[in-house]
Amino acid sequence: MYRRNIFHILYPIACLIGLFIVYQAWFKPTYLPTPPPSQPNAVVEDSQDAPPEPHHDGKPELEPKQTRLIDPSVVPETTHHELLETIRDEIEKGNVKTAETKLADLPAIVSTGAKTRLYAAVLWNNLGIQLEKAGGTAASVYAFKKASSFDANSPTIHLNLAHAYWELRDPAMTQDFLEKLVALAPDEPFPHLALANLFQERDQLGEAARHLDQATARAGKDPAVQSYLQTVTAKVRGTEKSDARLTSRASAHFTVKFDGEADQATWAAVLEILEEAYREIGQKFGHFPSKTIVVVLHAKSTFQSATGSPMWADGLFDPVLGRIQVPAQDALADRAWLTRVLRHEFVHALLHDQLGPAGSVVPTWLNEGLAMELSGDRWSDLDQIMKQEFTLIPLPALEGSWGGLSSDAATVAYLEANSAVHYLIDRFGMPRVQELLAHLKARQALSAAMQSQLSLSYEQFQSRWVDQLQEHGKKS
Ligand SMILES: [Zn+2]
Repeated sequence: MYRRNIFHILYPIACLIGLFIVYQAWFKPTYLPTPPPSQPNAVVEDSQDAPPEPHHDGKPELEPKQTRLIDPSVVPETTHHELLETIRDEIEKGNVKTAETKLADLPAIVSTGAKTRLYAAVLWNNLGIQLEKAGGTAASVYAFKKASSFDANSPTIHLNLAHAYWELRDPAMTQDFLEKLVALAPDEPFPHLALANLFQERDQLGEAARHLDQATARAGKDPAVQSYLQTVTAKVRGTEKSDARLTSRASAHFTVKFDGEADQATWAAVLEILEEAYREIGQKFGHFPSKTIVVVLHAKSTFQSATGSPMWADGLFDPVLGRIQVPAQDALADRAWLTRVLRHEFVHALLHDQLGPAGSVVPTWLNEGLAMELSGDRWSDLDQIMKQEFTLIPLPALEGSWGGLSSDAATVAYLEANSAVHYLIDRFGMPRVQELLAHLKARQALSAAMQSQLSLSYEQFQSRWVDQLQEHGKKS
């Protein structure tokens, strides 16, 4: 029998975005607009043993305090003294455009001496901060790059650049870049956190845990950050240990780890499903994962203990480890089920990859709806429900965690998510949806992003979707 109700595979809890949460809560520099870490929105089929969400009141106290501006008060006594002073004053007055133009004309003269060059780096850095305040990280990253090109040894400049790279998921944040940053700023926890993330994405969990330890040692005394980092570290180490007995096999875009006897047929089937999902869903969505995705197939008997998921969970995407976990014994007996679970979780992994640290700002109904719609596992039950007496949950009420919903309400939530996203894609097309996601990634609120990308208010979108739903309900 085809199981229509997939609630059992969808296991929403207030989600943890792993290291991204640590970053949002404690390491994110002050000048970036920060959504409060206490409201992570993305719902993913998370594991129960994920560390408790860090609670934090007020501004985090980091030691040492992050200073992102460099004191520009001493202008070097060179032939360009006056010009440099003018640019500095323009930056301080907030005349970003003028300062930018004047600074861009500098390269010809900065070659005249080290002092001028280093001071130009200071100006670019401070201009970067102004640009970031006005236009976000995407607007500032180039200024920090300029600053870095004039001064390769400034810890402040390179920390600013690293924060921008992290926010943008910029591939320029390489191991090499981060190791240099560790040398420049040996007391900073952030470079180690970023290195841990990098190694985790490469599935080098031992190295990841080592850098998490280093980050923990530098993260100050805040008990919340300490306990969170320690829990994440323990999880990474535990996984490294249990991974040791897994056999692994890679295809072009996935590494599949298998728990139990090497079963060629299951491997082959799983990789085939995943590679097809990669091509088909990637194409439909307009994004392909930038990194290899790890998928762990657990024996049914050990799935629960290994992932901490409840008995009824059939699969999950673990954002702390960034991997898909599926119980796969007898997987071949029900290939339709295996396909649905893998494709659904693949979409979560894809969104996680594309949105990076901003993944937590995507409303749950959009995240789950995309997973259902893109995986091709569309439910038509909503049309049926519409004919019955039933209360629609307003979409804004489905933006946060679904953990507190009753089972019936959760079923309605998934149906609505699926239906609303289907309408969204059908009516506006995937490129618009991608634009919408890009604006959410840039931390725009959903209502503002809808207004600018769909030329509809959130309320209008909702009422049109409901109208169409009722229309549809009458016809069928
Ligand atoms: Zn899901």
